Amino acid sequence: MTGHHSWGYGQADGPSEWHKAYPIAQGNRQSPIDIDSARAVYDPSLQPLVISYESCTSLSISNTGHSVMVEFEDTDDRTAISGGPFQNPFRLKQFHFHWGTTHSQGSEHTIDGKPFPCELHLVHWNARKYATFGEAAAAPDGLAVVGVFLEVRIAKISVFFSQGTKAQFRGFNPKCLLPTSLDYWTYLGSLTTPPLNESVTWIVLKEPIRISVKQLEKFRMLLFTGEEDQRIQMANNFRPPQPLKGRIVRASFKA
Ligand SMILES: [Zn+2]
Repeated sequence: MTGHHSWGYGQADGPSEWHKAYPIAQGNRQSPIDIDSARAVYDPSLQPLVISYESCTSLSISNTGHSVMVEFEDTDDRTAISGGPFQNPFRLKQFHFHWGTTHSQGSEHTIDGKPFPCELHLVHWNARKYATFGEAAAAPDGLAVVGVFLEVRIAKISVFFSQGTKAQFRGFNPKCLLPTSLDYWTYLGSLTTPPLNESVTWIVLKEPIRISVKQLEKFRMLLFTGEEDQRIQMANNFRPPQPLKGRIVRASFKA
């Protein structure tokens, strides 16, 4: 989601500058956060997360200028998550990645101060309560984002994909991007990119995944456009952890 102001991850337009055009950047429920695993509160009332991606329909893949994004058909509840802390199913709209130039950084959320090389965000919206994704993105209970840590760097794939380019990307099921265990932490937060709306219930999965070489190849093939002069180096597209401001992080599992 791009706002009306230009923003990025550089020195002049990066996360520390976002509050000038988007004052909510200094709000009370901003994301990402560092998850202090010892301070997270086990909540036995949290239901297991149910991820129904069986019949999901991917549409396209694009370089948004800030990330690589895969979009999905979201006209019904067939591709949705439910359970967890949610009353309603939330439909999958898109997923995208945040990553770094080195193994030592890249994820947005960190666990006990430790970042991962890459973080996947699966973005869902509450279509029972809101008419459009845009409407949901402006509401405090409109979005549900599942964060998954990846243990492999994906920086190289985007280098070959020019900004603004959109390609068909059908038949990709993001189920292969989920770990075996769906144990999670949950807290109330925000989008991590402008406009930084405080509309997200975050689900951060405890178990990271290792993306397979085969999977990576599939991305790589589709991302190659051949327009070398339009290549942009996209990496370090992550916002650092934000103040907790009294929020409680709940865990679906016993530490
Ligand atoms: Zn994201």
